[in-house]
Amino acid sequence: MFGLKTDWFEEASPRYYSVGDYEGGTARWCPGCGDHAVLTAVQRLCRDEQLEPEKTVFVSGIGCASRFPHYMNAYGFHGLHGRALPVACGIRARRPDLHVFVSTGDGDCCSIGAGHWVHAIRYNMKMVVMLLDNNLYGLTKNQTSPTSGKGSKTNTHPQGSVLDPINPIQTTLGISNASFVAQTVDWNPAHLLATLEAAHQHPGLAFVRILQRCPHFQTGLFDPLQSDPSKLLLLTHPDGIALDESITRVLKNQREHDPADLAGAREIADLEEATPIGLFYRNENADRYDDFTVQGLATSRADKLTALESELDRYQI
Ligand code: SF4
Repeated sequence: MFGLKTDWFEEASPRYYSVGDYEGGTARWCPGCGDHAVLTAVQRLCRDEQLEPEKTVFVSGIGCASRFPHYMNAYGFHGLHGRALPVACGIRARRPDLHVFVSTGDGDCCSIGAGHWVHAIRYNMKMVVMLLDNNLYGLTKNQTSPTSGKGSKTNTHPQGSVLDPINPIQTTLGISNASFVAQTVDWNPAHLLATLEAAHQHPGLAFVRILQRCPHFQTGLFDPLQSDPSKLLLLTHPDGIALDESITRVLKNQREHDPADLAGAREIADLEEATPIGLFYRNENADRYDDFTVQGLATSRADKLTALESELDRYQI
């Protein structure tokens, strides 16, 4: 044709996603709520990893943290109280091509969702599970949660909670087939992002507990940790969370911990003199249930097709 070269073609450049491409609705958490910091970190993670929004899904249950999917420009499933994890496992089983994130709170995950928590950890299907732990039920207005400290005064225990709290790190480490267990805080954006990046790179279920401020009902709960960084114990190791100078310069109370050492992880999880943050445990070789579901479906379909073809051959159809 006149005017067109025969070898002409248009090469579309791959799309680059900026942070704004992941922004969903305006976040309606209270001013100063730690959830805002987690949302920002996750949007940066998506940008850094260039996750396609249409290949990314956020799943949640009920609670303040569970409003997360509304604020991401990606697929989302805002489900029932405590049921985020089975929904996420179902998505992962049928759509292993998607990046799956779960946003859950301490009431959602550690109380009504505790049974699903145990089994999802054991299934070890690839996803990032963020436990935004503010030590109470916020959405239902200041009730004691399983992680509320003994003596905390809430609307359900005005005289103070009477039981010792669940330690979500210790609990997760005790579940068979746990493969990635980490802890971070919402007010250190560099450590928060580095932890989420490591979690996203993990081939199985990455469980990240994020100490999350709730200024509305838990004013000052984490003030001692914020005002005195020596109260945080930074876990260091070449196989742990990648730490840049902006983290190590501030958090000088450090301890080297090999994340392959499960017994050491359990000992650190019980420390009372400081709050440990970093990677407690990682096992990249743990069995993953999604390997079996994906292969099982593929094998089953292939077997059916092969059988059908041989039937057609037999009857020369
Ligand atoms: Fe955040 Fe607490 Fe407000 Fe909920 S009640 S949005 S956790 S500050």
